[in-house]
Amino acid sequence: MQQAGSLFVVAAPSGAGKSSLVKALLEMDSHLGVSVSHTTRLPRGQEQEGREYHFISEPEFRVMVADGAFIEWAEVHGNLYGTSHAAVGSRISQGQDVVLEIDWQGALQIKQLFPDTVLVFILPPSWEELAQRLNRRGEDQPEVIAQRLLNARQEVAQARHFDFVIINALFETAVFDLKSVVHSQRLRYAVLSKNKPAVFQALNLD
Ligand code: 5GP
Repeated sequence: MQQAGSLFVVAAPSGAGKSSLVKALLEMDSHLGVSVSHTTRLPRGQEQEGREYHFISEPEFRVMVADGAFIEWAEVHGNLYGTSHAAVGSRISQGQDVVLEIDWQGALQIKQLFPDTVLVFILPPSWEELAQRLNRRGEDQPEVIAQRLLNARQEVAQARHFDFVIINALFETAVFDLKSVVHSQRLRYAVLSKNKPAVFQALNLD
């Protein structure tokens, strides 16, 4: 994959507010696109095919794995999730920045493949707050929530492997933090010189 744009990966335990944060970021930033993953889990609530996910069966997913269609994939909460080359490749090679909302296992796979990827981990302010948010969301059965809270312990422990960590206590502050991470990546010499070639040439910078 020819990487002209930047890749951002945002991971978090469920309930930390990752989807809302990424949604707010995308609304503020027209240069950022989101990668739509494939999953074997069933659609929830208002979710639509091709918008939140591409919903496919497990056999279909396994065929894609065998075909090498995924940049990364992982089992999360008993379902399979994967980022396809198609979801990311064309955008990145055209110079667009892309955000991936995936779990920590996928994040670390992507970082190995593309070391310039910016990994961001979203933390809840406390375990109590995480439990309250999962219950308030009302999307899952109590046993699913209990399992997600158990998984969250392991997931949060992975934050140390990420480049940036954002504590989502106050939503507006966390959006600002996320925006700041994206903005600072764009100010890196290597990235800015690619995005502003005329200025760099005029200043005899290569
Ligand atoms: P949910 O089922 O709540 O939408 O997502 C469950 C978890 O799977 C979340 O942590 C989400 O970020 C993660 N996930 C979604 N898409 C992908 C993907 O393509 N790859 C990986 N590794 N994880 C994903």
